[in-house]
Amino acid sequence: MTGQTNLQTITDMTVWHLQLPVNARRDHGIGSVEHVVDIVVLGLRSEDGTWGYGEASSWSVFTGSAEASYAALNRYIRPLVVGQSLADRARIMENASYAVAHCTEAKAALETALLDLQGRLSGLPVWALLGGRCRDTIPLSCSIADPDFDRDLDLMERIKADGLRIIKLKTGFKGHDFDLMRLERLRTDYPEFAIRVDYNQGLHASDALACVRDVAGFKPDFIEQPVKAHLYDLMADIRAQIDVPLLADESVFGPEDMGRAIRERIADGVSIKIMKSGGLTRAQTVARMAASAGMSAYGGDMFEAGLAHLAGTHMIAATPEITLGCEFYQASYFLVEDILEQPFEVRDGQVVVPEASGLGGTPDTGKLDHFAINKATE
Ligand SMILES: [Mg+2]
Repeated sequence: MTGQTNLQTITDMTVWHLQLPVNARRDHGIGSVEHVVDIVVLGLRSEDGTWGYGEASSWSVFTGSAEASYAALNRYIRPLVVGQSLADRARIMENASYAVAHCTEAKAALETALLDLQGRLSGLPVWALLGGRCRDTIPLSCSIADPDFDRDLDLMERIKADGLRIIKLKTGFKGHDFDLMRLERLRTDYPEFAIRVDYNQGLHASDALACVRDVAGFKPDFIEQPVKAHLYDLMADIRAQIDVPLLADESVFGPEDMGRAIRERIADGVSIKIMKSGGLTRAQTVARMAASAGMSAYGGDMFEAGLAHLAGTHMIAATPEITLGCEFYQASYFLVEDILEQPFEVRDGQVVVPEASGLGGTPDTGKLDHFAINKATE
């Protein structure tokens, strides 16, 4: 064993591809999720037998497939990790960035597991390894995205009773009239809620501005990604013609896109996700670039389990530039059963930033094996 206990060698690596049952259908502008979500979990073990974990939450129509994340970790990244020292986290991440193109969720899982393991060995929470804490809680937004609106009204009652006061209405998948009807109803029946709107690229370029203008009349906090990710000019046009903040999500993955988004003035703010940026530190870079250009930042997520929520929570806890809360709702309100040993903690509508070392939560390995459709230990 090397000298310091927190700078041990990584001796083992396990990768699971899971399918987790969900309790409802979710429709977004770019696609739907029903029955199960696919995620990949990475486990890294140090010399003394301590484990650290990370999650890759892929969505095939957005960031890529779980199969790609699994292959990226198991085939291309494994040789760059096993046998390396935890002291060399930045070098491992740099090597991984070149070992396989894209696969940003796999790289997020890798950095999460490295930070979790180092945090556990050193007795520090992951937020401490990312620069220290700027907040103890994060306001939680829940997405309203069921094509059966009555089911979402049931969900509204549940989250209201739990103390949540932010929702994000998913739009652009079932017609403009359906979107306006739901906005009207939610504004009337739930005046205590802040409403955000997310099209997930769902509008056609030809009528995007007209639809967005109607929705802007309801004065949501922001309107997110109305058109296709690559339509930077149209995003800039829409932004210039509405008086509600426009957010970019699919248009901005990592720092490289953020630079272009700033130059071309496509948005007033950005949704930051560790699964898009390719890790927690790159997500922090995106947030700082946005803030330096006067843009706001929101803590977005993919269809995640609690392990990825924890990673995002630590990242946001150490990133003061992310001021619009988070959407880590799936572990509590979407998955039939989460993978963590202890529930992902939400109190009075706020995600609670963990105090314990590492991520402050551990996946139940019995559940990992139970929900696995593929697993590799070497
Ligand atoms: Mg979005």
